[in-house]
Amino acid sequence: MKNELEQVFDNIAAAVTPEPQDYTHPETGILHCGKCHTPKQCRVTLFGKEKLMPCTCQCRQEQIEKEEQAQKEQQRLDRIRRLKANGLQDRALLAYTFAQDDGTNPTMQHAHRYVRHWAEVKSQGRGLLLWGSVGTGKTFAAACIANALTEQGVPVLMTNFSKILNSLSGMFSEDRNKYLASLGEFDLLIIDDLGIERNSEYAQEQVYNIVDSRYLSRLPFIITTNLTLSELKNPKDTAHARIYDRILERCAPVLFGGKNYRTENAENTKNAIREIFTQEDSL
Ligand SMILES: [Zn+2]
Repeated sequence: MKNELEQVFDNIAAAVTPEPQDYTHPETGILHCGKCHTPKQCRVTLFGKEKLMPCTCQCRQEQIEKEEQAQKEQQRLDRIRRLKANGLQDRALLAYTFAQDDGTNPTMQHAHRYVRHWAEVKSQGRGLLLWGSVGTGKTFAAACIANALTEQGVPVLMTNFSKILNSLSGMFSEDRNKYLASLGEFDLLIIDDLGIERNSEYAQEQVYNIVDSRYLSRLPFIITTNLTLSELKNPKDTAHARIYDRILERCAPVLFGGKNYRTENAENTKNAIREIFTQEDSL
């Protein structure tokens, strides 16, 4: 008497429907694919009896793999689209990519290196401080990093403190905490234009909270600012000092453009960058 399980296998075996071009091999009696000429059945012993069970021929197997590949690629693209929508809300930033770099600014090499060394800098929680006067390409460099890493599936948020403070201002304290915690879900946080936000005690407190939270959780962040390195190193009060100290401790300063600061920057950048990219050839 057949048990239930045996019946299930028999049903599977009977469910093979040959394509018109398929054929039964004259010697083995096994169904072969008319396209790739490999078996569509295999002989197995089940419940003491030999049975012909369906199996996947080579061309079907290749088709399945291709479909899985396509599905995976689609999922990857969907994920990147979502990451971009969440992390690069300013649509203009999407156009700032390494492909758009005309190669005239040698400082861009640091942005390239940051992306190349992502695994390493991420594990060390190391970031960059892109400083220099207006219009020197700091935002461009930061957005290039954001786009390149996002393309690799890394969650990056690029924003500025004014935007964050605006979002916070309409929230109750519970939502505010949730919002601040949500920033920690991004592997990289890029804060554009440090120093343009409101200077109120409340604003500085929030800025400190965000910087401190990245600092404590050893998550990397990149800051761009028009402030000079010496302004960051010699803050006007302790409220600013505690923010800037944490930034300077985690972010390697890189000067953009300003000839005036060249000497101040040269040694700083060299040392900091050497520290951050320990595993690459010397500068
Ligand atoms: Zn086939």
